[in-house]
Amino acid sequence: MRFLYKILLWTIIIMAAAFGVSGYFFVNFVFQTALEREVDQALDGSNILRFAFETAALNAPTKYGVLQDVAIEQIGAKLEVGGQGSGRLLRLSDEDKKALYVSEGFTEDTTLLQTITENSRSFQVTSAGGRYYIQTGIMVSVLNRYLYLETMEDVTEVFEERAMGFKLYRQVTVVMLGVSAVVMFMIGTFLTRPIRILARATRKMAAGDYGYRARQVSNDELGRLTQDFNSMANVLEGTIGELQGEIQAREDFIAAFAHELKTPLTAIIGYADLLRSRELDDEKHFLSSNYIYTEGKRLENMSFRLLDIIVTKREQIEPQPVSAETFFRHLEDMFAGNREQRLQVSFEVGTVYAEVNLIKSVLSNLVDNACKASSSGGVVEVSGRIVEGGYEFRVQDYGVGIPEEELQRVTEAFYMVDKSRSRSRNGAGLGLALCVEILRLHESELWIDSVVDEGTCMSFVLPDKPDQPEKQEGCERHEEAEGPKPEGPEKPGRSKKEAANEV
Ligand code: ATP
Ligand code: MG
Repeated sequence: MRFLYKILLWTIIIMAAAFGVSGYFFVNFVFQTALEREVDQALDGSNILRFAFETAALNAPTKYGVLQDVAIEQIGAKLEVGGQGSGRLLRLSDEDKKALYVSEGFTEDTTLLQTITENSRSFQVTSAGGRYYIQTGIMVSVLNRYLYLETMEDVTEVFEERAMGFKLYRQVTVVMLGVSAVVMFMIGTFLTRPIRILARATRKMAAGDYGYRARQVSNDELGRLTQDFNSMANVLEGTIGELQGEIQAREDFIAAFAHELKTPLTAIIGYADLLRSRELDDEKHFLSSNYIYTEGKRLENMSFRLLDIIVTKREQIEPQPVSAETFFRHLEDMFAGNREQRLQVSFEVGTVYAEVNLIKSVLSNLVDNACKASSSGGVVEVSGRIVEGGYEFRVQDYGVGIPEEELQRVTEAFYMVDKSRSRSRNGAGLGLALCVEILRLHESELWIDSVVDEGTCMSFVLPDKPDQPEKQEGCERHEEAEGPKPEGPEKPGRSKKEAANEV
């Protein structure tokens, strides 16, 4: 049953009960008051009649000073016709309660007669022949006789009025209930409107329309419920959006992973098949084996990187104070074997709070990328300086650069701007994704500024105190080229970190 109908039904039940009980008490009260008035009048009338009887008896003939039964009958007959209207109903009984005079229509019931005593006025309400009477009884003492005088007053009208009252009240109650039901229906429809709106919103959301919001039409508890529902819907929509994004990112990751696996494996299988099915001259034999080896190495490199990312995602670090110099010395050692590019290192002495091996890995990746992007003989600058809130590391190259539209994606796993170029240098597109993960562990971010054919600057800031939030200033060259650096997510590289985190 609908909520509105329930409210309606209960309201009608309660109102019917209230009307019924109050009506019963009201009509009954009026009836009782009228009846009491009638009783008083009947008792007064009975008293007057007694005086009239006594007066008449004094003038009646007596025998030895005692009033005779015949005289009593005569007085009774006179008193009977002496009343107003159609006369009185009365009964006169002697000392033995034997009737001496009885009006026609007087009740034969002698219950009241048995209760009459001296100096008391008795009465009872009786009914006879479909009419109601007040029967009174009183003792009359006159001329050595003790008689009982009873009267009957017709009070049918009072009872009829009560019946009329009940009937009228029933009719009024029915009409009132009808009118109340209509009014209550309209009020109920108005009051339950927020519930209907909320129910519709719930159905819409259940059907997948997560953007649907319930309209707030009141400022009461239901209005607040609507507000809360909409807040919950906002959170839900956000969470679902995030989950969908996460699912999409995972799917993209798996698709990219499968693709990255397929390319080297196809080459490996092809060259392996060539080697086993044909006799090749030494040179072709070497080239084929070499291809299998390099592609195998690429696969191995990829699996290590992937493993690193997965492990890093789950890792908790305990940053230690490290001299910044440690990292620059490591880069110099690492670079020692590189004959194609020149590494220029400049740094301010400082201390950072970091996990040494992880940050070494970040810097190695960035320098490796810078070298891969630079032409033969190009310069790669690595620098470090104290900035407000920490110590900034920067890797600058003057190589191919990254197109602006690609900046958002280079930190995604497997993403390579120029796939053939990256693959030819054993790249798997995982280095920056790993860097972002490591920096996230250090509560830091990777900032990328790049101009195509001019070069790229990648930077990040590490705290110089334990648990210190990082503050990023960015690469100077970018600031010069594009004006003041915008704060927050608009900065290149930052939003890509989120994309990489989803992997
Ligand atoms: P991996 O690091 O896994 O061996 P990779 O270097 O190709 O492979 P990332 O380090 O993640 O992968 O870099 C992703 C892509 O971003 C690269 O393929 C390259 O296209 C581009 N990129 C990264 N650093 C630079 C840079 N300094 N200059 C120009 N392009 C860059
Ligand atoms: Mg790389």
